[in-house]
Amino acid sequence: MLSVRDLVVEVEGRRILQGISMDIGPGELHVIMGPNGAGKSTLLNTIAGLRHYKVVSGSIIFQGINIVNKPLYERARSGIVLAHQFPPALKGLTLRELVSAMERIYGSARDVEWAADILDVKKFMDRPLFVGMSGGERKRVELYLTILQRPRVALLDEPDSGVDIETLERIEEVLVELKKRGVLVLLVSHTMYLLERLAARNIIDNVHVIVAGRLAASGDPKKIFEMLKEAGFQGIAEGARVRG
Ligand code: ADP
Ligand code: MG
Ligand code: MG
Repeated sequence: MLSVRDLVVEVEGRRILQGISMDIGPGELHVIMGPNGAGKSTLLNTIAGLRHYKVVSGSIIFQGINIVNKPLYERARSGIVLAHQFPPALKGLTLRELVSAMERIYGSARDVEWAADILDVKKFMDRPLFVGMSGGERKRVELYLTILQRPRVALLDEPDSGVDIETLERIEEVLVELKKRGVLVLLVSHTMYLLERLAARNIIDNVHVIVAGRLAASGDPKKIFEMLKEAGFQGIAEGARVRG
């Protein structure tokens, strides 16, 4: 359903992705791991179609169509949603005001009430957006706003960074629910607590390790987590080079 083929990407004239390929089938959840600066966010941003991410070669096939030359808004309209940081321009708006503005574009928020409940965001409805929120609260609201956009492909870039255990477990439930609903998920995460729990529930279809813009390994979570414990990111990358 989403297929990335030999993707080479430059940012500001620097080659960041050096030929990445992966196939994400309908309803699958894939995890992207790798050290800082490996190109994980670059991959998600490129799939979403953000400016500055220049596809030098390769393709991104979504529902049979190569989308590399399609603008961000067209990809968003077809359901490719990147969970991004929301701009400061939203300051002063309450969550309720933003949700009701979004309802005009995406339809009734009632359809995604399940997410508001799991993420426990209703208590923030009448507060100015993000003001005085903890890191975990902010991440919960961001994930809720992502789901309000009715993703068919959810590109989640570290939705779990710096959050408390309670928030992690809420994120876990949301991921289980997204998968149940057939949403395709690409999740960048380092949080083994979350990843091990998802793997134990058989929610993760594939884990990809990106090191220095290349795919160092792909496979089922059990295998990849084991490799990571034994060799670390660099060890996996070196093994991949030796194997060719
Ligand atoms: P990761 O998400 O794996 O930590 P990124 O994809 O954010 O890595 O970054 C990969 C490399 O691309 C880094 O060296 C980073 O500095 C560079 N990079 C990413 N975005 C930009 C940008 N907008 N301008 C310049 N360099 C960038
Ligand atoms: Mg990073
Ligand atoms: Mg990143």
